Amino acid sequence: MLVDSHCHLNFPEFRNNMPALRAAMQSEGVGHALCISVTLPDFPEVLAVAEAHDNFFASVGVHPDYEDEPEYSDEHLLALAAHPKVVAIGETGLDYFRLQGDLEWQRERFRRHIRVARQANKPLVIHTRNAAEDTLRIMREEHADEVGGVMHCFTESLQVAQAAIELGFYISFSGILTFKNALSIKEVAKAIPLDRILVETDSPYLAPVPYRGKTNQPAYVRYVAEELANLRGISYQEVEQATTANFFRLFKDARPCA
Ligand SMILES: [Zn+2]
Ligand SMILES: [Zn+2]
Repeated sequence: MLVDSHCHLNFPEFRNNMPALRAAMQSEGVGHALCISVTLPDFPEVLAVAEAHDNFFASVGVHPDYEDEPEYSDEHLLALAAHPKVVAIGETGLDYFRLQGDLEWQRERFRRHIRVARQANKPLVIHTRNAAEDTLRIMREEHADEVGGVMHCFTESLQVAQAAIELGFYISFSGILTFKNALSIKEVAKAIPLDRILVETDSPYLAPVPYRGKTNQPAYVRYVAEELANLRGISYQEVEQATTANFFRLFKDARPCA
């Protein structure tokens, strides 16, 4: 069974559609999913989804694209992270594509998330877009290697992937891997060690081929795994076993259910 390592199931697309979404996971062989928080006001909903189902887990954090979110203390974030269903801190990171100008607040927020992750001893879910250099620099400066984590929806170079792996991080591929023009990402997926790879949907965004442009859902992570197997010339079962073992090794507080 696969794990969807990154999805947003509290979004309105899914809220009223949970039985169908879970049935599709079951029939496509997707056993677990990590539900990612993007703002603190939304966090109770994310947690509720994870609490309602044994095979869903949650993260807590504030996404770098949400500029107008009120800032919060380390203590507040740490308290939320203590919940047993919260297995990661994020998504956090830097995004110089969606937002421009003085983004010092974004870097400060990212640093705070790394500090809290270290205090909570939970791995990080990192989002980086057009900002790889600063992302890696801050990861080093704040000692993110102490807890590790995942570079989610990876779209950077092989060099960036290797630098993150050296810091103890995993690389997660989304539906973008199945896009015909994603040649450089396909090269990264072929080159890095299998024991550092995760798969995700980033639902409801970025549906893989053959559903490109439609609403994504966790069941579709199987198309990402299929593409990975094809690219690496290995079996689907090998990808399934490796990425699922990787997920539970990294997110050590996530308990797999039968
Ligand atoms: Zn993201
Ligand atoms: Zn996301």
